[in-house]
Amino acid sequence: VSHDLRTPLAILKGYVETLQIKKDSLSEAEKEEYLNITHNNIDKLSNLINQLFEYSKLESEQITPVKEPFSITELSYDLIEKFKVLAEQKQIELKLDTSKENCIVFADVSMVERALQNLIENALKYTDLGGKVTLSIKKLNKNIEINIADTGKGIPASEQPYIFDRYKQVDKSQKKRGAGLGLAIVKKIMELHDTTITVLSQPKKGSTFTFKLPAQ
Ligand code: ADP
Repeated sequence: VSHDLRTPLAILKGYVETLQIKKDSLSEAEKEEYLNITHNNIDKLSNLINQLFEYSKLESEQITPVKEPFSITELSYDLIEKFKVLAEQKQIELKLDTSKENCIVFADVSMVERALQNLIENALKYTDLGGKVTLSIKKLNKNIEINIADTGKGIPASEQPYIFDRYKQVDKSQKKRGAGLGLAIVKKIMELHDTTITVLSQPKKGSTFTFKLPAQ
């Protein structure tokens, strides 16, 4: 993770110094470009720092779940709405698959929202243009099952047991945003709810992440 913190910092320093030293010789377009790069790297850093704080707070059990009944159906509709623009930009079809019934779970709403966000973000991140991401909610006996399925690049079987570990990334060279903490946060949230997250995935076909929460 120190590499992930240092790289954006080094880039920031470089561009800010260039702006300071060459401010009279740079064109307006160049200044604009350098400022955009600076801005993107600040976003990267603050995302990473936020994820690190969030993970360490969960890990040290500084935050414990506050469980209450809430509608996972409504939460899912809200999340689909929130990610619609990002999906449209990537020309990915993002949809919710649920029965008419309103499914109520007993869990910590903000933690479940965070877990779903991380899973949807990943599904969109690792799926190419024209793909499909489906969030589905199914009522089982005493549980509600939630699936996040994508038609993306998939995960090799040999890597699947490790993707929920901290800082684990299948392809370290990828140009995608992230530090390998998203799934570790999801796993921790599931542990705090006495449940587990599983994955079924096939390279080039896609991935499906599944978890269950108690129905109210
Ligand atoms: P990252 O910040 O790298 O996305 P995560 O903890 O969220 O970290 O995921 C760990 C790794 O698992 C990713 O780097 C990626 O290789 C793999 N991964 C996670 N979700 C998916 C997905 N939906 N499709 C393909 N690979 C995935």
